[in-house]
Amino acid sequence: MRFRGCWLLLILFFIFLLLGSVVCIRHFHRFSLFDPDRQVAKVLPEYLQDEHWVSARRESEQTIMPLITRDRKTLQREIKAHTFYRGSTEKKLIALTFDDGPHPDCAPQLVALLQQFHIHATFFVVGTLALKNPQLVRQEYAAGNEIGNHTYHHIQPLKSIPEWEVATEIIADGEVIKSITGVAPHLFRPPGGGFNEGIGTVATALGYTTIMWTDDPGDFDASISTAILTDRLLQRVRNGAVILLHDGGTHTLALLPNLITTLQHRGYQFVTVDELIQQSRTNATASR
Ligand SMILES: [Zn+2]
Repeated sequence: MRFRGCWLLLILFFIFLLLGSVVCIRHFHRFSLFDPDRQVAKVLPEYLQDEHWVSARRESEQTIMPLITRDRKTLQREIKAHTFYRGSTEKKLIALTFDDGPHPDCAPQLVALLQQFHIHATFFVVGTLALKNPQLVRQEYAAGNEIGNHTYHHIQPLKSIPEWEVATEIIADGEVIKSITGVAPHLFRPPGGGFNEGIGTVATALGYTTIMWTDDPGDFDASISTAILTDRLLQRVRNGAVILLHDGGTHTLALLPNLITTLQHRGYQFVTVDELIQQSRTNATASR
């Protein structure tokens, strides 16, 4: 009888061991640096020749490993607190954001246009492009605009690469921006808005707030006229809007004067994303 009891205990022990292993593997899998499936990653040979990327990769390995020990609920809370979709609906504030630059054919005119209207915006720049034209990023920043992180290579979708590579992309772009402006960025926008828990975890762990948007008029769409596109945008825009435009978009430069003038006449004020976040927090605190 006692002999049978021992067998039973042994079998139960092995079942628990098996279940425990499955849970651990699943948990580790989320942040695995050596996940064989996703290791097929888009690590192109030229990335490995790029000193900025290689140095960021080393740093990313140290950053990501401690995340494995964090519990999921804490992570989800942190990601939620560091993801921004729109500002307060109580104030007539709007943030213009320009992704994918700096582009030599567009960025200088964008900066001049914003200066002409005495407003500031936020530029989410791509690391490799910033390295080619650092003076453009310097110009944007010197004019009072904010510079945010839009990854080093603009890989899309970002969800298709492992977390360590997402971290590498963000760290490398952050380093490039800091080397140009002297200030480390703290706002991050994933290419194409592709976002999931892994990306949110990495961005949050690296000290970033992820910035999404409320309005995407499609300023790259050549099949539609600038006037129609601007009208659509003007009909939709509300308090606290974050408008997604592109440095180098087909309609960007053409739509801005009408957009800015009309919205200013409606009483809107243009601010950077950081200012929009601050104002929204002030509002939330005041209404408590
Ligand atoms: Zn982009």
